[in-house]
Amino acid sequence: MEDAVTDPIDVLANLFAHEGSRDYFGEAVSQSAHMLQAAALARAAGAPAALVAAALLHDVGHFLGPVSGDDLMKGTDCRHSEAGAVWLSAWFPAAVTEPVRLHVAAKRYLCAVELTYLAELSSASLYTLTVQGGPMTRAEAGTFINLPYAADAVALRRWDEASKDPLATPAPFEDYRHLLLGLLAVAA
Ligand code: FE
Repeated sequence: MEDAVTDPIDVLANLFAHEGSRDYFGEAVSQSAHMLQAAALARAAGAPAALVAAALLHDVGHFLGPVSGDDLMKGTDCRHSEAGAVWLSAWFPAAVTEPVRLHVAAKRYLCAVELTYLAELSSASLYTLTVQGGPMTRAEAGTFINLPYAADAVALRRWDEASKDPLATPAPFEDYRHLLLGLLAVAA
């Protein structure tokens, strides 16, 4: 309820500064650093603002709900993509929330259609894949890629996997405040 009367960008900035500074499960970077790296890759690739925002916010679901990302690493699927998308939908349009919702499915898709993608997953990402349902079947992959925003989710998932560099120095959250504000206006 408090969120309804608080600037959502400040709520997000606060998450990045606090909860986000924790370890990113099984990886050498914090959750905030991981999401900032993903956003930087999206921006460098010339992605539209909504997809840059999706990359920036794709793992906020790890901060929410009774089952944490630590539980995910212990074998419980916390469905962080769904939780994050639902939470973000109070403020942002589908062009932001749907790639977030679909980014775990996009991982299962990529593992089904690209052998090299599966082979190059980090060990933590490979482990969580099994908790998340494993690679899609051919039929599931065919259905998935025709969903709205599936292509955006696939792009996001590639930046996601590439955003675990402990030596990277991505732009800070504040660099995205203007971009996020513009998207809030679209959602209103
Ligand atoms: Fe991620």
